[in-house]
Amino acid sequence: MDLSYILNHLGEEREGYHGAVSPPLMQSSIFAYPTVARMRTGFADEFAEHLYTRGNNPTVAILRKKMAALEGAEDCLAFGSGAAAISAAVFASIRAGDHVVCVARPYSWTRSLLRDLLPKFGVATTFVDGTDIGNFEEAITDGTRLVVLESPNSMTYEQQDLAAVARLARGRGIRTLCDNSFATPLNQSPIALGIDLVAHSATKYLNGHSDVVAGLLCGSEALLREVFKGPYMTFGAILSPHDAWLLIRGLRTLAVRMERVAATTMRVLGFLEAHPKIRRVHHPHATDNPQLGLTRRQISGASGMITIDLATDEVAAVERFCDALRRFLMTVSWGGYESLAFPVCAVFPPDAPLRATAGLPLSLVRLSIGLEDADVLIGDLAQALDKL
Ligand SMILES: *Cc1c(COP(=O)(O)O)cnc(C)c1O
Repeated sequence: MDLSYILNHLGEEREGYHGAVSPPLMQSSIFAYPTVARMRTGFADEFAEHLYTRGNNPTVAILRKKMAALEGAEDCLAFGSGAAAISAAVFASIRAGDHVVCVARPYSWTRSLLRDLLPKFGVATTFVDGTDIGNFEEAITDGTRLVVLESPNSMTYEQQDLAAVARLARGRGIRTLCDNSFATPLNQSPIALGIDLVAHSATKYLNGHSDVVAGLLCGSEALLREVFKGPYMTFGAILSPHDAWLLIRGLRTLAVRMERVAATTMRVLGFLEAHPKIRRVHHPHATDNPQLGLTRRQISGASGMITIDLATDEVAAVERFCDALRRFLMTVSWGGYESLAFPVCAVFPPDAPLRATAGLPLSLVRLSIGLEDADVLIGDLAQALDKL
């Protein structure tokens, strides 16, 4: 199935809605049945039937079909946030006494789920440096049920060899979950590499307009039925039909947005890598990335998340740089049409030491490259770096 067909047509039954080009927003919590016999079949398989919008909704179903096709998965479930999608996948995969292996420094709320919440229910997690497959082998125990991956991971974009981890886990009957938000299904296909479940913060590139918080989980129908019967229906962290409708609209331009982001990002990367006031540029396609070979094997196009390590030992200088940016909005999240800057130092008090022994240096600023002209962004970065 070609990409344009998925984005423009798949899942849409226009003859059923008067030829409307934009699909109807089915803003209904319930779906009525003409007979008891029909209602009984609705109850028998809520995963496939339209009965109640906490389970299924026709507008959300269009999004699910498109997303499953993009990931090369049998099916997809839609959630009210990326965090909900990840939590549901994890909760469906473990029980008390189980052990989880997770890549070091995943998205903050993935870490919080595994490190802070799950120990209350008797589930322990070992965090490993995911750049070396040997670390997974070492961390896996007889009790390991799940491996949680995020490739590239948050802030510094270390990657895991997805095919190698999937092979290792499958051989031992361990389930794998990969957060694919950074690369998007256009640039990386974890399911084709053997990963069982793929999660997305659709808040980021998939929606792309900074106006929806959403999550998606892709996998086999059997696994997703397990998630559906468990955390999906019980926690009820679903995506509303309206937000699904907005996401379908966002997806229409996913391919052109990602192409534009990749081209702009490569130009901005070149500028940043040559700048004397930058100590290091973190990006999977950065020329000094020791994992560049893996990037070329595993990721097709560049995403627009770049983390720069400013050449300074003063938090005040980092603040001067960030405060001087005019075209980058300073906030959290990423993946929208607009360029963003997120300074790590904003999370800490102003007198925190810039290079604490553990954790990330406070000289890091994460940039999300949007759809602006590359020269505009480079010009803005150049003038702000002058203020450093
Ligand atoms: C933002 C993000 C999430 C969480 O998604 P929400 O939609 O904010 O809940 C998960 N993983 C990664 C890599 C993210 O950047």
